[in-house]
Amino acid sequence: MPYETAGGAHEIASRLGHSSAAIRAIADQRAFYVPAEAIQDSDSIRKRIHPRGDFAAPPVSERLTAALAIDGSHVVEQVRDGLPSVLYGFAQAAAAYVDLGVLESQKAERFVDPYEIEGAVNTALVTLDLPVSGAFTRAGVDIVTSWRETINELFRQKKIEVNRLDQPLLDLLFLLHGVPDRPAATVPVNCPNQACSSKNVPVPPAGTDCDACGVHLFPTDALRIHEEVGEEGTNQSALGRLMSVIELLALVGLATLLWKQSRQRALPTTLFIVDGPLAVFGTPAKLRGRALQYFQAMGSTSPGKAPYVCGIEKSGALVDYARQLARHDILEPGNLLVCDEEIIARVVNANNARAYGKETYWGRKFVYRALDGRVVVPTVPPPVGAPYDDNGGKAVPADYPTLPAILDVIDRTGSSMYVDGIIPVAAAHGKAAFPIGVGTDVLRLVATKRLGLDSSGGQADPVWSAS
Ligand SMILES: [Zn+2]
Repeated sequence: MPYETAGGAHEIASRLGHSSAAIRAIADQRAFYVPAEAIQDSDSIRKRIHPRGDFAAPPVSERLTAALAIDGSHVVEQVRDGLPSVLYGFAQAAAAYVDLGVLESQKAERFVDPYEIEGAVNTALVTLDLPVSGAFTRAGVDIVTSWRETINELFRQKKIEVNRLDQPLLDLLFLLHGVPDRPAATVPVNCPNQACSSKNVPVPPAGTDCDACGVHLFPTDALRIHEEVGEEGTNQSALGRLMSVIELLALVGLATLLWKQSRQRALPTTLFIVDGPLAVFGTPAKLRGRALQYFQAMGSTSPGKAPYVCGIEKSGALVDYARQLARHDILEPGNLLVCDEEIIARVVNANNARAYGKETYWGRKFVYRALDGRVVVPTVPPPVGAPYDDNGGKAVPADYPTLPAILDVIDRTGSSMYVDGIIPVAAAHGKAAFPIGVGTDVLRLVATKRLGLDSSGGQADPVWSAS
């Protein structure tokens, strides 16, 4: 059955060429198990569904009025004629400030203006490029060393330049390993020398030599992205890991900015949205624990339930499964499905569903069918404890006090949240979204756009000024 697109039309398989048609024909002859196709025991699923009434919309004074959406992208290109193995990569994180009130009033507009998208893409928060495969920083180094040197250099050069904070990615990495007002002094690094077994060596921002083998350790080795790099292959997955780390650091930078400069006003009314789940996959996965601790530390020093942080997934196995539930009217508009061990076991077909997610996720997945019928999978971090652990983690909504306000935003923004890619879509709603780029003053943006304070109108509210 074809999926419905955000526009309400049925999705058509893209470029169904000869090879994919042939593979589908073969697959049709085979028997295999697809969890999303097997909706069994709907009564036990219904027991895990909460109606919208269980999560009363927050009072007007607590409703979120703005979102800061972060979205990363990366691409790898062949850059030498006749040398197809030489690959160069480009990655960027974009961010946009979205005025939820204006977006709500514009949600009937479904057309995306390509010029607006181009503008958003050109206004990235941070961009970086590097040799990915078949090309090296210099002669005489292997590809792993080349990547390590490149990431170290990039993290020192590339800055998140909003509100004149001028924070290099390296500073944000140390911040993530500390607490919001105190970056860590060192980060733990496993020696990259294959012959050396030193683990968790404390490395300061300047780097240090390994006590055991003498190899120079970069603080960025803590990311362990180089462990996924090889001489053979395209190393595209390593570039994807790097991208996801940069998205996380952009989130840390922007949230900390509001925490520092407008803790009473902008922070408690802003939803930070990451495109995709709140998770760190692959070799940098240890950052998951850091992210959870960091935002929990921020929460313990913020008013009310702030900060409001969520990831939004619009594709994947759980989304497919949830769409089947919606199609069978098991999951109705306004319903929230609690994804406990039982549901996880069905969706991921895992034999250890109890410990699912504990190594990768720093938020808990819920399935929500918005009031307009769309299905979305938000990931939400708990204010204390781990969302997933060896014993099934925290599955119940009561452990996530920010959830009602997040569901409220999902309902109010309607289709805008559901089309692939948060930034282009948000930015396409020209009056509602403003790309955040180099030199942007986010607080001025909030103040002028949301509070209607004209920048030429003189007196800025002292709360908005930097401390
Ligand atoms: Zn060593």
